[in-house]
Amino acid sequence: MGIQRSPAAYAIRDFLQRSDVPFQWVELTTDEEAREKAKVANLRDERLPVCVFPDGTRLERPTIRQIIEKLGWFHDPSRAEYDLAIFGGGPAGLSAAVYGASEGLKTVLIEHSVLGGQAGTTSRIENYLGFPEGISGAELAERAREQACRFGTEILLLREGVRAEFQPGKFAAYMADGTKIVMHASICATGVEYQRLGLPNEERFWGVGVYYGAGVSEASLCVSEDVFVVGGGNSAGQAALNFSKFARKVTIIIRGAALKETLSQYLLDRILSSPKIEVRTHTETFRTSRLFLCLGGAPRTHWADDVGIVCDEQRYLVTGPDLKQYDTGKKWPLDRAPYYLETNQPGVFAAGDVRHGSIKRCASAVGEGAMAVAFVHRYLADH
Ligand SMILES: Cc1cc2nc3c(=O)[nH]c(=O)nc-3n(C[C@H](O)[C@H](O)[C@H](O)COP(=O)(O)OP(=O)(O)OC[C@H]3O[C@@H](n4cnc5c(N)ncnc54)[C@H](O)[C@@H]3O)c2cc1C
Repeated sequence: MGIQRSPAAYAIRDFLQRSDVPFQWVELTTDEEAREKAKVANLRDERLPVCVFPDGTRLERPTIRQIIEKLGWFHDPSRAEYDLAIFGGGPAGLSAAVYGASEGLKTVLIEHSVLGGQAGTTSRIENYLGFPEGISGAELAERAREQACRFGTEILLLREGVRAEFQPGKFAAYMADGTKIVMHASICATGVEYQRLGLPNEERFWGVGVYYGAGVSEASLCVSEDVFVVGGGNSAGQAALNFSKFARKVTIIIRGAALKETLSQYLLDRILSSPKIEVRTHTETFRTSRLFLCLGGAPRTHWADDVGIVCDEQRYLVTGPDLKQYDTGKKWPLDRAPYYLETNQPGVFAAGDVRHGSIKRCASAVGEGAMAVAFVHRYLADH
């Protein structure tokens, strides 16, 4: 519970929503309510927001790490070495975890924030095979997590791979918190993250009016409000449709001439037939207090330069036959050609949105995760 427009409360709601953890948000509007419900002095009390768990535990202004620990989800690596380490817990990484562990590889999955990746931020995925009514990204991720764990995948949350070292037959990866993981093969499935607007001081407004992403946790709090969604891709289209269930009006803002250039037909049809959604083309600025930015993504592959892994001009990891085209003097060291999803470092694979030339879809990320594991087996058999 907490006050409206609190970045700390938004971060917690977003985390719980994307992790598929049921929760109730209680918005405090008077000092009296703050005293009675949250047991704090008033609405300005720095101990807000307060989280109360089913067992009665009460955490004041908790960090996501504290919440993850309370849920029993925070672990240290249990092994000295793994056959396979997967970086990124989006659809590609989760799929690789299911196939790796189910095929007998000692598998660890390292996720920087919340499982599900971009897919976990969407209210409904309607074009994923086998779910004709659609499925929320958070539910899809939770099902995949359960499946991966059943086969024995170890999941390390809130850990970001930042550095790697390659020794013959083995790799070591270092997390931002200093944790070291040793592995025989790795799959990089770190996807992309939302591009920022890059306006001066924009961080001041994050979570208090400006939100990066589809804002699934916020939609039901926008009742009778005017909401603006920036972006013309499917993620923006889905976000607009979800907001239109609650908001008074939703405006989609795009710089281009028409949505049809960037949006799937099924979303376009629904948007154009919704009386609550307006599309503003050739537009850059507007006055609003609810701005959701779905601007497309960029990969975070800064670590690749330190270990000589080839990236394209936009920093996507180059793999397999595409390496020929990106020969930057970083030589392929083996007699055999690189496998289709293998980077120029033998045994280091890339799958999903982070890969140069990938199709930016859940199904293709899941497919590449499974395929990468098949190549990992071939690589391990050779070594
Ligand atoms: C709002 C939205 C709606 C969408 N809707 C659809 C749809 O309806 N249908 C469809 O097919 N596709 C949809 N997409 C696209 C789809 O979600 C992506 O193509 C897919 O999620 C890509 O999966 P991925 O595993 O490659 O990467 P991501 O989903 O980007 O996952 C990457 C993960 O890696 C983690 N990570 C990043 N760096 C590190 C690091 N150094 N160490 C550890 N972990 C790290 C991130 O935290 C993230 O969890 C949508 C995307 C968005 C944003």
